[in-house]
Amino acid sequence: MSKIELPENALKVAETAEVEQISISRHPSGAWAIIVVHDTTLGPALGGCRLRKYPTLALATRDAIGLAEGMTFKSALADLPLGGGKAVLLEDRNLVDGRVELFQWFAERVNEFGGRYVTAEDMGTRVSDIEVVKERCQHVTGVDSKNGGGGDPSPWTALGVFQGMRASLERVYGSDDFSGRTVAIQGVGNVGRFLLDHLSKAGARVVVADTRKTELEELGRKYEFQVASVDEILTMECDILSPCAVSHVLSEELIPKLRCRIIAGAANTQLEARSVEKDIAAKNVLYAPDFAINSGGVILCADEREEGGYLESRVRERVLRIYETTKKVFEQADSSNMLPGEAALFLAKQKIENAKSK
Ligand code: NAD
Repeated sequence: MSKIELPENALKVAETAEVEQISISRHPSGAWAIIVVHDTTLGPALGGCRLRKYPTLALATRDAIGLAEGMTFKSALADLPLGGGKAVLLEDRNLVDGRVELFQWFAERVNEFGGRYVTAEDMGTRVSDIEVVKERCQHVTGVDSKNGGGGDPSPWTALGVFQGMRASLERVYGSDDFSGRTVAIQGVGNVGRFLLDHLSKAGARVVVADTRKTELEELGRKYEFQVASVDEILTMECDILSPCAVSHVLSEELIPKLRCRIIAGAANTQLEARSVEKDIAAKNVLYAPDFAINSGGVILCADEREEGGYLESRVRERVLRIYETTKKVFEQADSSNMLPGEAALFLAKQKIENAKSK
């Protein structure tokens, strides 16, 4: 491949990143692929491929680096033999034509990492895209259940978040009984709808908000819940607030308005900045760190790589363990005077350091 002149800002971001490996390539259509391997101490760097329009290549690169780092800590805390990586496809057209060609080309870029990076589905990509990648590249997880994979990771992510909620309820109220507790869910998409199912079965009162009215109407035919507006949901009076839509919802502006006792949701990178966690604690709100409780999906992806392939019972057992992991995070926070997010990071880093010293 010929060498590409990178825009100066993107080059600066890539040059200063604390990652093992990063590649930025350009497709003839003008699309960019950024692949980041953050850390492979515990195993190959697994992380999905995101397809998005970003304002600049530098922002896309920064996002890919942050997400790859997040994957390292998520997998480490879940005790998976995986490191952290991520890919971003930056595409400024609406991909109607050329989608298959783009993913075939992306498969070649993944191959260049020789197995150090393993890709999967993520925001903006579909299982069908991953199937295209799989035709040319073996470093792929999250394939269709028809092709021996575990299929949709969302039900497992929801089950894990539910376990994190149980551990959080126990810590705040001394019992993981959901009856009489109110849970406010922001976003009932792939994960939120399965969470709604668990919560309904456990007897919780559920309030939901979603920007898509059709989702709410469809779910309303199956479950009983109250609907709040998108503007109200984050500041509702409730026991658990569960962000299951977008990143960075826990902002400096929102925190003074919170009226919940617990935050436990599926969304990645919920904290606008790590520094806001102390403001959450100062409001006497318990934050269950996102990457500690939303690892159900990556647990499923990791399972496909086990000898003999995906086994549902093994995935279930590992996802249920998120309850214990969340409790361990809270205990670590207590014993070392840390905030839960800091404690989760500490435990994840400790696993990586222990592996390095072996
Ligand atoms: P999704 O796109 O299927 O669902 C998100 C839902 O949120 C949609 O229904 C959307 O309409 C709604 N929404 C968007 N903005 C909103 C707003 N401001 N207020 C209320 N609703 C809003 O996504 P998903 O797969 O359910 O994932 C949800 C979150 O969890 C994402 O942040 C994702 O990165 C994270 N996550 C998902 C998985 C997984 O297995 N799918 C795993 C780990 C983390």
